[in-house]
Parts: sequence; C-alpha cells; structure tokens
Amino acid sequence: MKIQKYHHMRDYSNMKIGGRAKEFIIIEKKEEVVEVVKTREKIFLIGNGTNTLIPDKDMDISFVSLNKLDEIKDLGAGRVYVEAGLHFDKLVEFTGVNNYSGLENLAGIPGSVGGLIYMNGGAYGSEIFDYIEEIEIVDENHEIRKVKKSDMHVTYRKTEIQQKKWIVLSAIFKFGKGFDKERVEDLKERRESRHPLSMPNLGSTFKNPEGHFSAKLIIAAGIQGDKVGDMQISNIHPNFLENLGNARYSDVIEIIKLVKEKVKLDSGIELEEEIVIIED
Ligand SMILES: Cc1cc2nc3c(=O)[nH]c(=O)nc-3n(C[C@H](O)[C@H](O)[C@H](O)COP(=O)(O)OP(=O)(O)OC[C@H]3O[C@@H](n4cnc5c(N)ncnc54)[C@H](O)[C@@H]3O)c2cc1C
Repeated sequence: MKIQKYHHMRDYSNMKIGGRAKEFIIIEKKEEVVEVVKTREKIFLIGNGTNTLIPDKDMDISFVSLNKLDEIKDLGAGRVYVEAGLHFDKLVEFTGVNNYSGLENLAGIPGSVGGLIYMNGGAYGSEIFDYIEEIEIVDENHEIRKVKKSDMHVTYRKTEIQQKKWIVLSAIFKFGKGFDKERVEDLKERRESRHPLSMPNLGSTFKNPEGHFSAKLIIAAGIQGDKVGDMQISNIHPNFLENLGNARYSDVIEIIKLVKEKVKLDSGIELEEEIVIIED
C-alpha cells in the first residue's frame, strides 16, 4: 500500500470541497484493507467521491482508496467478477463489449463499483443489486468473507453494508443477454441535458420520499435557485446542489437545512439526505 500524509482531499469529492486528511492510503492488494482497519481508529473509504461531502479543515481521518483494485473478469454464463475500485463506466463498457444486458438504466452514474454497491445506486427503475449475485467484503470483525445477495437486506439506497460498516472488495454480477446500446446513448443524453454537469455537484442531494419526487417538492417550496454563500439549489435540477466556485462545507450544511425546513413547511414531508456527509 502507499500512504500519503496530510493529503489534500478537495479533488477527491465531486463537490470540490475538502481539507487535509491525516493520511490517504492507496490499497494495492485486498488483504491490506484488513491491516488498515485493524490499525486505524477512524477510516473513510472513498470511491470516486461523487456522493461524498468532505469537511474543509484538517481531519483526523485515514481515507482509504481501492481505486487500484480494478480487475474485471468474465466467469462465463453471464457471470462477471468485478473489483470494487473499478469505475462504473468501465463495467458498463464491458457489458457492451460482451453483449450483456442489465446495467443500461444505470449508465452514466459517475461512481466506482464499490460506491454504487454501498449506496445500492440506481436510476430509471433499476438498482445495482438487481444484477448482483454475491459480494466480497471486509466485515465488522475485520474478516474477508463472501455474502450472497439472497442473505442480505437491501432496499432503496439502503444496504446492510452501510449499517455494519462493511468494506466492499469485489462482487459477482449476473447479466442477461443482449446489450441495449440505444438505451444507453439515450439515457446518457438525458443526463447531459437534465443534470448540471458543468458545475461541481454530488448528484441527487435527497432521497425521493415514497410516492414523491424531491425535485418537485423543492420547486413547490419556491426555493429553486436559492443560494447560501457559493452553494446554489440548481436551476437545472433542483435536487442537485451546485458549487458556484468557492462554496464552503458550512454553506452546504446550511442550504441542506434550509431545503429541509422549507419543504417540511410547504408539504409536511421530511426529506432525507442521499449524499454522504462526513461529519465536521
Ligand atoms: C452528476 C451525478 C449524477 C449522479 N446520478 C446518480 C444516479 O442516477 N443514481 C445514483 O444512485 N447515484 C447517482 N449519483 C451519486 C453517486 O454517483 C452514486 O451514489 C455512486 O454510487 C457513488 O459512488 P462513488 O464511488 O463516487 O462513492 P463515494 O462518494 O466515494 O462514496 C459514497 C459512499 O460509499 C462508500 N464506499 C465507496 N466505496 C466503498 C467500498 N468499496 N466499500 C464500502 N463503502 C464504500 C463511501 O465510504 C461513502 O460512504 C450521481 C452523482 C453525480 C455527481
């Protein structure tokens, strides 16, 4: 493993906010993760940082990156072994090359495979766990083991991985036949036109409450376009927060509070954050 002390984290969050970490650890072999969790008190697993807000101060946290664990292997009969550090785009590309179906609706999500599994990320009616057979983890007892999806409790953007603080090392996916290239291109275009991709952001800030869309609730509350410091509720997609340039961590925290209060006042509905906020 490689360890960098007092590492600047701003570029590891897609919001482009972040201070210095006590250390930044790049894992080169999966067994090293066990050593790290046994020897550190506070660790944070960072994937592509597309869903994570990082405090903009010195942090007593060891950030751990699995980005070098990026193997992908066809096991035959639609089964594919993928390490957690692989960029999700590469996995979608692999399914295209091998004519596997399954991940089309998720194409364009900018995370790592591990990040998507942790979040049970999804889009347009599909979730990543729809195509997973089993995952390999470091569990709460610091042991590497495999867990079958059928033995796990997984719901909308929620997995046992979060509650038990497991670290995902790899997964085996099971795909059908026949990659739908047109669908992928169509959805990528839709993302480009409907998401504020030119500004730093973390995707959808809030989960959709059952039977509702957070974006619609935010519009109805009359706060689309509102700002706190350099942080703005996007005019393109109101469930996205955009960093206009020099936003602070505290601006994000404040604007989230404002949105929750205004939506609650307007609709009576309590929004819940989808983004992961590392506590200050
Ligand atoms: C423009 C944009 C569009 C987006 N669209 C979508 C969308 O359509 N659907 C959707 O679901 N999300 C979407 N997202 C959010 C984000 O891309 C996903 O949540 C993605 O799964 C996060 O992956 P990541 O690697 O960037 O995770 P990070 O932000 O690095 O981490 C997120 C969480 O996962 C944990 N984590 C990461 N890797 C591991 C691992 N190997 N083991 C255990 N825990 C791990 C982290 O500790 C953290 O708690 C979007 C984001 C952006 C910026």
